[in-house]
Amino acid sequence: MAARQLGPGVTDPTQRVGALPPPHPTLTLGGVRLGIVGAARLYVCGITPYDVTHLGHAATFVWSDLLAGLLRGTGVEARVCRNITDVDDVLMDAARARGRHYDEFALGQEAVFGQSMRALAVATPQAEPHARHHIGTVQQLAQTLLDAGAAYERGGTVWFRGGEVASGAGLDHDEALRRFADYGEQPDHPDKDDPFDVPVWQVSTDGQPAWPSPWGWGRPGWHAECAAMALAVHGGSIDVLAGGSDLVFPHHVYVTAMASAATGVTPFARATLHVGEVRLEGRKMAKSTGNLVLVDDLLTRCSPAALRLAILDRRYADPWEYRPDDLDRAEQRLADLYRAAGASSTAGTAGTGDADPDAALARVRDDLDVPGAVEVALATGGEAARRLIAVLRLGDAR
Ligand SMILES: [Zn+2]
Repeated sequence: MAARQLGPGVTDPTQRVGALPPPHPTLTLGGVRLGIVGAARLYVCGITPYDVTHLGHAATFVWSDLLAGLLRGTGVEARVCRNITDVDDVLMDAARARGRHYDEFALGQEAVFGQSMRALAVATPQAEPHARHHIGTVQQLAQTLLDAGAAYERGGTVWFRGGEVASGAGLDHDEALRRFADYGEQPDHPDKDDPFDVPVWQVSTDGQPAWPSPWGWGRPGWHAECAAMALAVHGGSIDVLAGGSDLVFPHHVYVTAMASAATGVTPFARATLHVGEVRLEGRKMAKSTGNLVLVDDLLTRCSPAALRLAILDRRYADPWEYRPDDLDRAEQRLADLYRAAGASSTAGTAGTGDADPDAALARVRDDLDVPGAVEVALATGGEAARRLIAVLRLGDAR
């Protein structure tokens, strides 16, 4: 007997019929229990569209996609915001070197990136804000920080006071300064009160894109772009801040500091997902060094599902020294998983016996332990393996 329908999706609460649902499982991430009511807000630091997608990028976005899918599997809505940093000095330089306008150049790169993400079955984010559409939002952030005394204006640039940000992040002063300079933050800039101050809004010189602002013609600072887009899309705080581990400092530390200084809401992010660096021949995979393996090239050598599994079949925070035979191993593991999924559960007939069909997923929900989950799925087989294949989206990759 079905409960009496009172309208679309509404049943009579006095009619106690049917089986009780199982409890909603909870995820833990980096030691934080992610209890979510209603909707989870994820902010993923996206690409600067000046070159096609390499394995380091893909790892960040595949892991973020897994987290979002996992949250959805617990019955909550996952709202993913993955930005496009299309106002960026490196992008401008790359476009200029190719004799292209930065805007048109960035859009072309973005399309190629989208193809790579689709091939890897990464779901389209609910929001994909572009920095160039958030110029006004960055200016609101700058004004809010000025009003709060967290920033000052000098010569058309609005500087965020970062003197205590690096030490607050638990970083050694010299190490922080070195990493700061690596990202072109100009610690010795003569206009700054402190070497660790960063621009929220900055003056543009000849050839650089410039928008009108109360402080003159200029453009946003990098950290301010992400802080502004995250606040504009998600509101005063978020559940998970995600990105590559190389973004922890200075980028995420400053995004967090700016957002909290503007809103007074602490913590800005309840948890973080920082994906370990992908290395090739001992060095970080990066466009700036040309030390790259491109997703499109890898997909000529293995199936998209195998590449997705190669990315996920490890602890997300660990650095990954990529070797070509990682793809062969992933193909083998994928074949083993499919075989296990098609077989009967070791503790009963496929999915109907005594084996816990949730056993593998429970491992993924515990700080995204995919290797542990794969071992459980291979040992148990049946429904546990099928559920794992579904949540890792190995059947969806092209
Ligand atoms: Zn960012």
